[in-house]
Amino acid sequence: MSYDFDVVIAGGGPAGSSTANFLRQRNRSVLVLEREKFPRFHIGESMLPFSNELWRELGVFEKMDARYIHKPGAKFIHEESGAEFTYYFENAIRGGHPYAYQVKRADFDKMLLDHAASLGAEVREETKVGDVVFAPDGVTVSATGPDGKSYQVRAPMFVDATGRDALIAGRRQLKVPDGVVTTNVAVHTMYQNVDRSQGADEGNIILGLFDGGWWWMIPFKDGDTSVGMVFEKSYTRAQRGLSSQELMEHAIEGLPNLKRYLKDATRILEVGAQGNWSYRSTRFYDERLLMVGDAAAFVDPLFSTGVLFAAYGARFAAGHIDAALTDGDFSAERFAPYQDECARGMDLFKGLVHEFYAQNLRKILLASSQNPTICAVITSLLAGDVYKPAMWQSMITKAGFSNVADVGAMPTARSSRQVRLEKPLA
Ligand SMILES: Cc1cc2nc3c(=O)[nH]c(=O)nc-3n(C[C@H](O)[C@H](O)[C@H](O)COP(=O)(O)OP(=O)(O)OC[C@H]3O[C@@H](n4cnc5c(N)ncnc54)[C@H](O)[C@@H]3O)c2cc1C
Repeated sequence: MSYDFDVVIAGGGPAGSSTANFLRQRNRSVLVLEREKFPRFHIGESMLPFSNELWRELGVFEKMDARYIHKPGAKFIHEESGAEFTYYFENAIRGGHPYAYQVKRADFDKMLLDHAASLGAEVREETKVGDVVFAPDGVTVSATGPDGKSYQVRAPMFVDATGRDALIAGRRQLKVPDGVVTTNVAVHTMYQNVDRSQGADEGNIILGLFDGGWWWMIPFKDGDTSVGMVFEKSYTRAQRGLSSQELMEHAIEGLPNLKRYLKDATRILEVGAQGNWSYRSTRFYDERLLMVGDAAAFVDPLFSTGVLFAAYGARFAAGHIDAALTDGDFSAERFAPYQDECARGMDLFKGLVHEFYAQNLRKILLASSQNPTICAVITSLLAGDVYKPAMWQSMITKAGFSNVADVGAMPTARSSRQVRLEKPLA
């Protein structure tokens, strides 16, 4: 088979554009096929501090620092009791990552995709990937462009970065839903004039926990604020028949803290809705194939991890693809370590997410001031420190999150003085 590119990537979101960028840094020829015309709206606007290392490697850190508001922490509010607690990333066990960014994804995703193009990746927007045929000597990808005409491109390697559509895992029925996560619907919109924190705390994400789900408030540099909610299955069942907007308005009425933030706010975007299923593909790879980002797995939106996983997955994928191209060996087995690398970070968060939905993590999240060990571990997780080995990670993996407080010799917050408790849990 003759090839048009070294790699064809389906999807130009953070996973696809970052994979293209990392491959161009290794001088590989890349085609990115993206169904939409960018900029386009996308949910998933809060970044984590440990992604900053990747923004540096991708060459976009300076652009991001100039464009986006700093996010120095995450504030949790318990709606029913009024308890509040803010985690500051400067207190993470591994230092040097004091803030992340809040980004409007329309702008952010376009910036990343344009940057990949500026490095020499060929990007074709408004181009939908259809059939993908894997043969022993290469991959043939069928695409339909903006003029409605279909054509084929050939490459030794194919990357599925199609997000929650999960092109290949869907077709091969590899997606396994996470049975422990009890939420299933997210609704979201954008407001102006939200009563935001002032000063250094302005960029913090605020997460409200309530009986029936949780909500987020994500502030942007231009003054707009993203507000969304994720509902438990039981909650959406009880409110069946309501439109997304009615569902959101109904919920806000029962949430005194969120209502207070929104008292003078104006909604500037239609309320959107989204299925919120958590899933993982049984395999992230096969012969001549890697799945990156949401195309491989989606853990949960609670801890804002999606883009971190997409960007790290892209970095791991590019390394494996580059080596495969050098060796001329595209066998499935050689890509198995890719899945292990990705799963490392995902598993740590999956454990935390499971404890949140199945056990009493809500209470622990709000009672951190009483336990510096728990506080330090949660801060490090919230910062996204899940890919570099650390003692506390192996302790969580072995003992389970709720038990780490009982394990001796655990590190504590770097400076517990700086952990600020606003209102303790009653
Ligand atoms: C309610 C909710 C809140 C979230 N909040 C956060 C958050 O705060 N922070 C965070 O980091 N993550 C968050 N996430 C997760 C985040 O949205 C995703 O993890 C992230 O966008 C994954 O990037 P990706 O590139 O894998 O997929 P995407 O960003 O979805 O990109 C996939 C691209 O593939 C394209 N595509 C799909 N099918 C085809 C096809 N057949 N042909 C060509 N192109 C195709 C799509 O148009 C899309 O542009 C949230 C998710 C949800 C559901």
